[in-house]
Amino acid sequence: MKGVFVLDAAALLSNWTQRNPESEFVTTQGILNELRNRPSRERAERLVLIGRMRVADSDPDSVRAVGLAASKLGDLQVLSDNDVSLLAIALSIQSAGRTVSVVSSDLSVLNTATTLGFGIVDLTSKMRHQITWVLRCPACGHNERQGSKESECPVCGTKLTRRHKKRKRIV
Ligand SMILES: [Zn+2]
Repeated sequence: MKGVFVLDAAALLSNWTQRNPESEFVTTQGILNELRNRPSRERAERLVLIGRMRVADSDPDSVRAVGLAASKLGDLQVLSDNDVSLLAIALSIQSAGRTVSVVSSDLSVLNTATTLGFGIVDLTSKMRHQITWVLRCPACGHNERQGSKESECPVCGTKLTRRHKKRKRIV
């Protein structure tokens, strides 16, 4: 497979890297820190040592752009900081003119990745649609189109819940 593959913790915990021995990988230090499982951690460190995987830092502009895209989809509130950094790295690789795919088992990560125009490798094979979420207040029924991480109903202050607004088939 061609291009650069941006890997989240689930990718590094699986045997996906072993099944794609010719590919070039990128991840973040934050993701490596998530690997508590020792064999997976050692395998990831080895990939770095032999130069197959690069550990990159995200730049603030890309983090902002990812935050905006995820916020429009309604995914921002469920993405971790590590998820956002990883997507930001994918965005800077794409901006440099390279083909990039995000390898993840997290549907919110994959959903945002699709919107940003990256390829995706869905480790769960469950990603069928690009989903735009709407935040809805369970108490008063108010709908909020875009949400931040702490989304409370602007009308009554109840915590908003996510619902599908739009589904677009991607595969
Ligand atoms: Zn409300």
